[in-house]
Amino acid sequence: MKIESRLAQIGSQSEPVTGAVSYPIYNATAYRHPKLGQSTGFDYTRTKNPTRTVLEEAIADLESGDRGFACSSGMAALQTIFALFSQGDHLLVSLDLYGGTYRLMEQVMKRFGVTATYVDTDKLDELEANRRPETKAVLIETPTNPLMMITDLAAVSAWAKKHGLLTIVDNTLLTPFFQRPIELGADIVIHSATKYLGGHNDVLAGLIVTKGQELSDRMAFLHNSIGAVLGPQDSWLLARGMKTLAVRMERHQYNATRIAEWLLGHEAVERVYYPALPDHPGHAVQNAQSSGNTGIFSFKVKDARYVEPILRHIRLIAFAESLGGVESLMTYPAVQTHADIPVEIRNKIGVDDKLLRFSVGIEHVDDLIADLANAFERARAEVEGGVSV
Ligand SMILES: *Cc1c(COP(=O)(O)O)cnc(C)c1O
Repeated sequence: MKIESRLAQIGSQSEPVTGAVSYPIYNATAYRHPKLGQSTGFDYTRTKNPTRTVLEEAIADLESGDRGFACSSGMAALQTIFALFSQGDHLLVSLDLYGGTYRLMEQVMKRFGVTATYVDTDKLDELEANRRPETKAVLIETPTNPLMMITDLAAVSAWAKKHGLLTIVDNTLLTPFFQRPIELGADIVIHSATKYLGGHNDVLAGLIVTKGQELSDRMAFLHNSIGAVLGPQDSWLLARGMKTLAVRMERHQYNATRIAEWLLGHEAVERVYYPALPDHPGHAVQNAQSSGNTGIFSFKVKDARYVEPILRHIRLIAFAESLGGVESLMTYPAVQTHADIPVEIRNKIGVDDKLLRFSVGIEHVDDLIADLANAFERARAEVEGGVSV
């Protein structure tokens, strides 16, 4: 069945007693055993919960993996994955990385002796040059956030397999609707489901999908042992949000493409970072490995003095951290999401004081462009005229 149908039907055929098309929320943490040595399959909610199971089976299916695991946040999902590694292990990680992942690696995992080297994961020679005997995995974001760098997932997965490394892909920005890394050779997919999968800026959640029996069993052990699992209420809310993923992603992509093109023609804009644009360096690879583009992109204004008034004058678009919801949000990565990344690394990759990130929502595109045009015009008047409008 096509992915649109599988999304819309999440959980709707899973409740055999009443036939409820919306799968119930099971708040119970304990489950009655029929007799000694028997179980209904549910014993204790940290290990397994019916509402969470519906969500976990759905994401495993959508990502073409074997098992899914729902966690209390994207960071909890990453921490659970990182628990696969032991003291002395080393990871190769995308250079333009989500700030929280960098922080977890550098300020937490490092204390446990697990270290990372940050490389352009699209360059096999760079990966090879930084591979050590103790390297265990490659962690990839594609596209990266905020600079939208693309990694060829099939090429890197094949390289990793050859050297016995796990390939872990953070698929938050594209979702399985547009990109399925496991089909391209990845072993583990992780999502901040807080973003597009949830889609409404109202649920914090993380998802993991594993491929292969052994890895799935190890992850199930860690998921239960660490216990950073998603509660039943949030599991239900997330599964509910995911039912409309297909229509939301199509609209996000449409709006983002139209706005990126509009910004490209704006005199105050220096550069637009969006893989849907033909001049993007990752355009061809992105088109080959994904069936569409995310709703988030970044752009650089020519003059950093535009940033503050633009953020002050946007009205429909909210100045807020996060991405992937139906509401449009604009972020200033250098001071918000990427503040924990050292300024030398930020400047090296281009996350500087002229860069703005735009998570385009599903509002009407004309209203979004009008809001931007107004904010740009007021910013211009203030910067050029020295007046406050
Ligand atoms: C938000 C985000 C995370 C962290 O997820 P939370 O749900 O906020 O814990 C990880 N990776 C990416 C790409 C993200 O955007």
